[in-house]
Amino acid sequence: MTPQTRPDLESIPAYVPGRSFPGAVKLASNETTIGPLPSVREAIADAAAGLNRYPDNSATELIAALSERLGVPTEQIAVGCGSVSLCQELVQITCDAGDEVIFAWRSFEAYPIIAAVAGATAVRVPNTADHGHDLKAMLAAITDRTRLMFVCNPNNPTGSLLGKEELAQFLDAVPEHIVVALDEAYFEYVRPEPGEDLADGLELAEGRRNVVVLRTFSKAYGLAGIRVGYAVADPSVVTALSKVHTPFSVNSLAQTAAVASLAAATELLARTEGVVAERERVHAALVEAGYEVPTSAANFLWLPLGERSAAFFEAAAEAGVVLRNFTGEGTRVTIGDPHENDLFLDFATGQGRALAGIG
Ligand SMILES: *Cc1c(COP(=O)(O)O)cnc(C)c1O
Repeated sequence: MTPQTRPDLESIPAYVPGRSFPGAVKLASNETTIGPLPSVREAIADAAAGLNRYPDNSATELIAALSERLGVPTEQIAVGCGSVSLCQELVQITCDAGDEVIFAWRSFEAYPIIAAVAGATAVRVPNTADHGHDLKAMLAAITDRTRLMFVCNPNNPTGSLLGKEELAQFLDAVPEHIVVALDEAYFEYVRPEPGEDLADGLELAEGRRNVVVLRTFSKAYGLAGIRVGYAVADPSVVTALSKVHTPFSVNSLAQTAAVASLAAATELLARTEGVVAERERVHAALVEAGYEVPTSAANFLWLPLGERSAAFFEAAAEAGVVLRNFTGEGTRVTIGDPHENDLFLDFATGQGRALAGIG
């Protein structure tokens, strides 16, 4: 007899690891292309000597460093094993079975899975025609079962960006008992247009106790492999998060690496300039070749290829470039090094055009 597990898990797809294409360039996971700085590697190597001990479950040093850097009191900061685990903890602290979690769709693929695993109901609100959050429709989707809303800004995978004013108005319209998570995993890649006001979650959270800001060391800080992210929230929310937190899940190497990376923040953030310049170059080349490509504020571009997405992805992989395919919806390409981006552009402006239905 098969051991019994929850029947509702049948409706949740099992994790399918990305196929590997040996030797291919990987533009699939929004990682940085450069490894950790020498100072960060050294700190990790030094910390290895203490691995016989449990990590500091309160992440005292890391939270103090974040507090200093962000100008936020320590009691408003929680860390997690990647910010995806903080997303999970937020569902756990807000939702009983059948409570509702609202998010835009398409957005981060983890949201519906996390909601379903917690027994909550995922409420997907379709994006606007230009691939951004439909904030009005998200407000209209609120019911008396709504407990949590995710707003991914910039949005993964479409790259769309909400401005400060529209986001502030939205937050003011959400009932104060509903927690709103502003997922800012790509915050460091945002470059507001001249005269445009940057939507900084930390500012928007001031005076709004239901707003939680999520950020991560996985993207611009280049530490995807070591798993550490953080939340800035009302102290009551931070306390609740600590209650559902898997003990010691932010390991000591991760804490050390994050502290060392904050110390090198200037150098690490300077790297985003090159990515942003490449983003604009690749965007322009794709538009020139006839693609529809929404403006992106993150380190990736979205190609809304619909039914053509899977074939485009397959052919790109054969040509040596692994992208992220969202079957029936689109293809996401991470901005890598110039030579990697050139390899992608060779494909996209050549063989890829026919597959994308252009010309
Ligand atoms: C990558 C990503 C995260 C966080 O990833 P972690 O590695 O778990 O910190 C969170 N939200 C979005 C939208 C992301 O794309």
